[in-house]
This record gives sequence, structure tokens and C-alpha cells, in this order.
Amino acid sequence: IKGQYKKYFAYYDDVLRRKLLKEQEIVDSMESALNLGQFEIYLQPKYNIRYSRMDGAEALVRWNHPQWGQQSPAVFIPLFERNGFITRLDQYVWEKVCAVMCDWENRGMPPLPVSVNVSRADIYNVDLADILTGLLRKYALPAARLHLEITESAYTENPRQIIETVSNLRELGFVVEMDDFGSGYSSLHMLHKMPVDVLKLDMKFIQNDPVTPVNQEIMRFIINLADLMSLDVVAEGVETAEQLERLREIGCDCMQGYFFSKPLPVKEFELLMESADSA
Ligand code: C2E
Ligand code: CA
Ligand code: CA
Ligand code: CA
Repeated sequence: IKGQYKKYFAYYDDVLRRKLLKEQEIVDSMESALNLGQFEIYLQPKYNIRYSRMDGAEALVRWNHPQWGQQSPAVFIPLFERNGFITRLDQYVWEKVCAVMCDWENRGMPPLPVSVNVSRADIYNVDLADILTGLLRKYALPAARLHLEITESAYTENPRQIIETVSNLRELGFVVEMDDFGSGYSSLHMLHKMPVDVLKLDMKFIQNDPVTPVNQEIMRFIINLADLMSLDVVAEGVETAEQLERLREIGCDCMQGYFFSKPLPVKEFELLMESADSA
């Protein structure tokens, strides 16, 4: 047993060592990756079920690393949230998104709003509102074109600070979406006080397997509550026709998920926009 234990210990030691090594490599190359343009914006459509049309998009970042290949945000975002680099990366993403929307304007394409992710670290940046309004000015865009997604857990961590920051952003005209709603932190009591425009229903609701009547009723309850509060709801992670049908049944109008489209490189997303426009 002792030998066995040692073997396991060595195994975990090795896994941990490799994880730390990889993290160190990420930290060593993040600055140059930003300067070399290795971070790329992907856009995933938000689809309006009722009107059968694209309503907007969410910007999701990818890291095209020359040796490791394309890295998913799950690999580097949590690390960047810990070491603070996320504020730099987010600002880069926001600027790219504004540049893309400005380009759409110039090319006479539909004025589709795009949502960006705002990390909890960005909330504590006293310059947040200035940075965002500066981008709008630079790219001649109205604030309502840029939607800001803030994860639910950030709201409960420091409610006072977030209410103040978010209220200010909404007064400036930004549309604020509560991301991952229902993932575990918010209480309905809090929601009442939260200055938000849109709830993004966490994908665990729709992907709940097997489907239970209780789960469907919880979703219906959230939809009805949101309606009472004049909030829009976007269901995340819709992958199948059955899931779409369940949303229709409870009156949820907007969805995002692989069933309609995966996140796409900007050029591919534009083709989708054009084909939807001519349809
Ligand atoms: P999120 O903001 O909740 O984004 C939704 C995630 O769900 C994305 O993963 C998206 O690709 C994925 N997704 C969309 N539809 C489906 C579906 O039908 N099924 C499944 N299984 N997944 C679906 P992604 O792109 O890997 O991003 C993961 C997380 O990384 C995001 O979760 C967000 O928290 C963070 N993230 C991504 N880009 C940025 C960024 O630019 N800034 C910040 N701060 N965070 C980002
Ligand atoms: Ca999001
Ligand atoms: Ca989400
Ligand atoms: Ca509304």
C-alpha cells in the first residue's frame, strides 16, 4: 500500500507540476501574444425565436498560439482573472468589437448590437466608464450597440459597488446583461435591486438531462418574473430542436447556442449576417 500511495503521489505531483509549467508559459507569452495579435474575436449569434432572426451577437475571445494551436478561454481566462491581465485583454476585445461594428456601419450592414464580457476585475477599474465611452466616441457608435455581460457571481460579491457602477453605465446608455443567471449566487431578492436589462439564463437549465417537469416550471417562472420586471431573457447553450421547443413552450424569445450557430470568426459571421439580411 505504501508503494501504491507513493506512485499516486508521484502521479499527482507530476500533473500539478505540468499544470504550473503550462501556466508559467502562458504568463510568459501573454504580453507578446497581445502585441502580436494572437487573440482573435469570435462572434456567436443571439437568435430571436419569435421573429426568426438574428438579434445580436456575443464576442468570445480565442488565442491562436503558434505552437499550441487555438486555445479556448477556459484555459487562459481564469488565469488572467487571477493575475490581472484580464483587464488588458478585455479592453483589447472591446476595442476590436467596436472597430468591427464601425466597419459594419461603413459598409451599410445592419446595426447589430454586440455583447462583450466584462470581467469582475473590470468592475473595480475606476476608468471603466471612461474607457467604454472613449471607444464609442472613437468609433462613432451609440452606447446601445455595445452590450455588457457581467456574470451573476460578480453581483453578489460586492453588490454596493456593482449597483453603483452598473447604474452609471446604464445611464450612459449601455445595455447590461446578467450572465450565467441562476448558476447559483443570485437570490430573487437581489435581482429586484439589480440594475440590469437582460438575463442570460445559465445553460444548466436548458441542458438539464433528463428533462423534468420541475425544471421546465422553474424556467417558466424565471421567464414570467423577467417579464414582470421588463427584462429580456436569453437562453444559453441551446443545442437541440427539443430544447428550442421547450423554450418556445414557455415563451422565451431569445436564444444562443450551437443549434443555431457556434461562435464564428468575424468574416464567417458576416456571411451569416448577409445571408440573413437577404432572406
Ligand atoms: P460565457 O460568457 O458564459 O460564454 C458562453 C460560452 O458557452 C462560450 O464558451 C460559448 O462558446 C459556449 N457555448 C455557446 N453555445 C453553446 C452550446 O450550445 N453548448 C455548449 N456546450 N456551449 C456553448 P467559450 O467561448 O469557451 O468561453 C468560455 C467563457 O470564457 C465565457 O463564458 C466567458 O466567461 C469567458 N470569456 C470568453 N471570452 C471572454 C472575453 O473576451 N473576456 C472575458 N472576461 N471573458 C471571456
Ligand atoms: Ca458571456
Ligand atoms: Ca454565460
Ligand atoms: Ca425589456
